[in-house]
Amino acid sequence: MSESFDIRKWFKNPEELLVISGPCSVESREQLLETAEGLSKIQKVKVLRGGIWKPRTRPEAFEGIGEEGLKWMREAKERFGFLTMTEVAVPEHVELALKYGIDVLWLGARTVVNPFSVQELADCLKGCDVPVFVKNPIAPDLKLWLGAFERLDGAGLKYLGGIHRGFSSYDETPYRNTPVWHIPIELKRLRPDIQIITDVSHICGRRDLLQEVAQHALDFGTIGFMIESHCNPEKALTDANQQITPESLKNALNTLIIRKTAVDADDRILQNLRKEIDVIDEDILNLIAKRMNVSEQIGEFKKEHNVTVLQMDRWKKVLEDHINKGVSLGLSEDLVKVIFEIIHKESIGRQL
Ligand code: PEP
Ligand code: MN
Repeated sequence: MSESFDIRKWFKNPEELLVISGPCSVESREQLLETAEGLSKIQKVKVLRGGIWKPRTRPEAFEGIGEEGLKWMREAKERFGFLTMTEVAVPEHVELALKYGIDVLWLGARTVVNPFSVQELADCLKGCDVPVFVKNPIAPDLKLWLGAFERLDGAGLKYLGGIHRGFSSYDETPYRNTPVWHIPIELKRLRPDIQIITDVSHICGRRDLLQEVAQHALDFGTIGFMIESHCNPEKALTDANQQITPESLKNALNTLIIRKTAVDADDRILQNLRKEIDVIDEDILNLIAKRMNVSEQIGEFKKEHNVTVLQMDRWKKVLEDHINKGVSLGLSEDLVKVIFEIIHKESIGRQL
């Protein structure tokens, strides 16, 4: 951990992996300082996180230590040289966090679902140059996530980051919040100016999955992590199952395989494979265009013979046959279904 870490510079040119760690909740001065001391031995950790106000699902749970905890955050910053970071959900949180010198803010997943809340925070942040990370909303709704950034843009904030923390799902999955990697990837495509990191703790919800998910995140191009840590995770007042000791964090970070983000220009094997993919993609596009053309001719025929565009029995049979064929070729049922549902939707649209 280095005192000179300049997070604004990182936002403009994120050359090194940004690691944010610290307790889910700040619980006591001792807990925070002991955790921070452990983290100060990990060079890669630049930012100390600590939840001061906790959005809890049920009201009887620990809802955060409040303002007093900000003094301990300031103390940890002075002692160990971290930048500090906390979650803000209402304007009063912003005022207090800034008053106690918190360096970076984040908006939580439950706040980001509510445009009124985000707008209130944006209004209160107007004119500040504090970096703000925005977690994805709890539902996989890219527009809602984008909208939050637009509200912060409107307030003139210049250092904006996204945090992929997974999405709630009704289905049973191994994760607390299922990662949907294409959503942060699409966000990055639409907003290249926003730096996106991954909160593996809230994705996993349990310690044993952290390493694997962190590696996935890296392989999908994440440029930083938020990982919760606690000097005594089992005794944590919130999210006890997912927090790890600073020592385990150190091991986990050392075990990660950091791959190159760009391919060497002279890597001929990969270049040739990519050329092959480009040719196949072009074939796919030509075939789809050809299919749509035939489909339009069928549409003309249906009109002339006064039959409905949707022929349910035919569609059921086509889909079933294609799934069987696709599966026999080693494709997944889901993939074949999704592709042909889209193709069919476009085809019947053209026959109207
Ligand atoms: C947190 O980081 O402690 C937190 C509450 O996260 P999220 O908003 O992702 O649930
Ligand atoms: Mn937490």
